[in-house]
Amino acid sequence: MKKLTPSHIFTLKPYQSARRIGLHGRVYLNANESPWENIIQYRHSNLNRYPEFQSRELLKKYADYTGLSSKHILITRGADEGIELLVRSFCNPNVDKIMFFSPTYDMYSITANIFNVQTIDIPILSNFQLDINGIMKNIHGVKLIYLCNPNNPTGNFFLRHDIIYLLELIPKTTLLIIDEAYIDFSIKESFVSKLYKYNNLVIVRTLSKAFGLAALRCGFVLSNINIINILQKVLAPYPIATPVSNMAIHSLNKKNIQFIQKNILKILKNKKFLFKKLKHFSCIEKIFDSQTNFILIKFFQSKQVFHHMVLNGIIIRDQSHKPGLQNCLRISIGTMNECIDLVTVLSIFEGKKNI
Ligand SMILES: *Cc1c(COP(=O)(O)O)cnc(C)c1O
Repeated sequence: MKKLTPSHIFTLKPYQSARRIGLHGRVYLNANESPWENIIQYRHSNLNRYPEFQSRELLKKYADYTGLSSKHILITRGADEGIELLVRSFCNPNVDKIMFFSPTYDMYSITANIFNVQTIDIPILSNFQLDINGIMKNIHGVKLIYLCNPNNPTGNFFLRHDIIYLLELIPKTTLLIIDEAYIDFSIKESFVSKLYKYNNLVIVRTLSKAFGLAALRCGFVLSNINIINILQKVLAPYPIATPVSNMAIHSLNKKNIQFIQKNILKILKNKKFLFKKLKHFSCIEKIFDSQTNFILIKFFQSKQVFHHMVLNGIIIRDQSHKPGLQNCLRISIGTMNECIDLVTVLSIFEGKKNI
């Protein structure tokens, strides 16, 4: 196998998705999914025919949702395909570099590794904000910058004026890609309106999180027409299955968007509940602010807490191996019952500790 496989693939560490880690329990709070199923009827039609390259109806629906025109949108197989497509379209292997700010979503570095593109990591500061000086010092040769806003797994927004500052200062031949996977939880903070001003701005979106359609595999790239045109050249001929387009179109109906907005409010309420309940736990060192559907918590003994939660059927996400996140666990916000369950199980740990 070693002789068969290029060395950058042979040594590749694949993304450790919640599904690949594969823990089983009662309550799943490990993949930032919506706890509510998005009930969409599936209309059977035309399965004997190849799908449209890009469903015009879906483009129109997402254009309405974002306030953009269809020409500024590309539909992809999840945000992950958008992230990959940008590397494939714009990076010369072994020549161009991509930059990201750890700890962040792992697919930026993994995708770069797959395509043999060099990575530059400028870790975020201890206040979880951007190291602007470090970024500007290392910008030479960087083709793509991946900025996850709000950031996963820290849950915070980067300062808006820092992002604008970057857009003003980086070379016009460097693309700033803002991953807005969680933006629906605070949609007013989106950078969509800046697409008109900055030609090197790209935004990546998904229906996997707030829209509760992780299984559908549908995402979007938003940018100016020239960039969308290049991406269209590289994208597979029939990238989105007809049932996927049809269900995505349904999910963007007015009535369903209202349903999603109600779910978002429920998530925000449940998050508030968790903050209030967990604030006084003595096994917790710090609960970080969150603008998303998950919270990052620093424990005094995260390994023991994680193990205790798994034993009691609650699956959360260990982030303690990441730089700057020692003893940190990430917990997705579930239904109110799941939140109560989490607090109850954690208070058993808390109780044991105090004996
Ligand atoms: C979940 C997630 C994605 C992946 O979204 P898909 O549309 O399911 O591929 C991308 N970026 C971030 C930051 C995420 O958390």
